[in-house]
Amino acid sequence: MGNWKMNGSLASNQQLLEQLIASLGSAHSHSDVVVCAPYPYLAQLQQMLANSAVEWGAQNLSAEPQGAFTGEVSAQMLNDFACKWVLVGHSERRALYGETDADVLAKTQAALDAGITPVVCVGETESEQAAGQTENVILQQLQSILKLDSALLSRIVVAYEPVWAIGTGKSATPEQAQAVHAYIRQLLAQHNAPKVRILYGGSVNAANAADLFLMPDIDGALVGGASLQAADFLSIAAA
Ligand code: PEP
Repeated sequence: MGNWKMNGSLASNQQLLEQLIASLGSAHSHSDVVVCAPYPYLAQLQQMLANSAVEWGAQNLSAEPQGAFTGEVSAQMLNDFACKWVLVGHSERRALYGETDADVLAKTQAALDAGITPVVCVGETESEQAAGQTENVILQQLQSILKLDSALLSRIVVAYEPVWAIGTGKSATPEQAQAVHAYIRQLLAQHNAPKVRILYGGSVNAANAADLFLMPDIDGALVGGASLQAADFLSIAAA
């Protein structure tokens, strides 16, 4: 899953998507390949990707269904553009826009209500990791979501993204990531949702993806920077 963040233009998106389509074609493989774009480009994604193997989504949504919420975008609006996926609680939203765990829960519920798969992002900062707080932080971030009915919980995806690894070129090692994924898996299993997919995110690139994917509890990747280069993203998808 690519997270373009606030990057792209109509012209550069077209070039990137044409390369993805040319390589991946229209047949879905056993893996889902998804790009999450800024809102204004969702129409372009819908138009270009409708008959391709590439799916698309948004990077955020409002917890509210409609009304006086200037600048916000609802789950139903994402449905108008056939988004199957939406990121929720990315660390940049938590850190820069003050999103709380309660916001993340409300947004997760809004996405599920609309039939869109929320990709719930969690992860510790460098100082939290240094203080040995990783599991506590993850538990805190996931706690309220784990209380969802297990049928609903089974429909989410979790992305483990250590904040210290995002955009730094300093990926977690496969073993480091696996240890946290195993912990998340255990939490999900305790809540009758053992098959929820758990993505790793944080400086995933063409060179390190295959080793990460060898780990038993790493089910895929959330890819920032490398998703903007077709060759890199395609080689991660191939891995
Ligand atoms: C992200 O933005 O979710 C991310 C993981 O970024 P990067 O791959 O650039 O570290």
